[in-house]
Amino acid sequence: MRIVLLGAPGSGKGTQGEKLAAHYGIPKISTGDALRAAVAAGTDLGKKAKAAMDAGKLVANEIVIGIVEERLEQPDAKPGFILDGFPRNTAQAQVLDKLLAGHGQHPIDKAVHLAVDDEEIIHRLHDRAVKEGRHDDQPDVIRHRIEVYNEETHPLLDYYEGQGKLVTLKGVGTVEEIFQGILKIVA
Ligand code: AMP
Repeated sequence: MRIVLLGAPGSGKGTQGEKLAAHYGIPKISTGDALRAAVAAGTDLGKKAKAAMDAGKLVANEIVIGIVEERLEQPDAKPGFILDGFPRNTAQAQVLDKLLAGHGQHPIDKAVHLAVDDEEIIHRLHDRAVKEGRHDDQPDVIRHRIEVYNEETHPLLDYYEGQGKLVTLKGVGTVEEIFQGILKIVA
């Protein structure tokens, strides 16, 4: 199973991605997690990414594409994977399709869109700021991340709709309800 999770920051991609990965026995690949780890470790890549992340902007395509390409080559990702936070724009989606084809891997099966309205997103991200203390969950950065999502990532819904792969469900309810909804819709 090769799934791309789409949805605004705070829509539940990380939580549902974990559950899907455990369910299918495949890795969850999160560019956000990989970037935060690189920042924490103080690597060159982390240093390059930090300013964009702190400002709620997208990190340069070549950086995130490099991360994903390397990760997809690992043996555990061969049977399938759950992508959380990548692709985030159409250029990344096109490169992903080419990478999979180039490595003789199956294409993406489904793009799962967790639809949550802006008001609920703002509320959840404020909550997460308090609980997890993420640098980019501050009010002005949150606003910017939602704008970036609407401008750059939202068009991906059309991209995957055009490929007949888009499934949308409301990302509201309990974690378990949403998870069962996803399993049903991707089956
Ligand atoms: P996330 O944890 O997915 O919300 O990602 C946190 C931050 O990492 C984002 O606000 C971006 O600055 C950066 N980031 C994560 N994934 C990508 C991506 N695919 N393209 C560009 N920037 C990304």
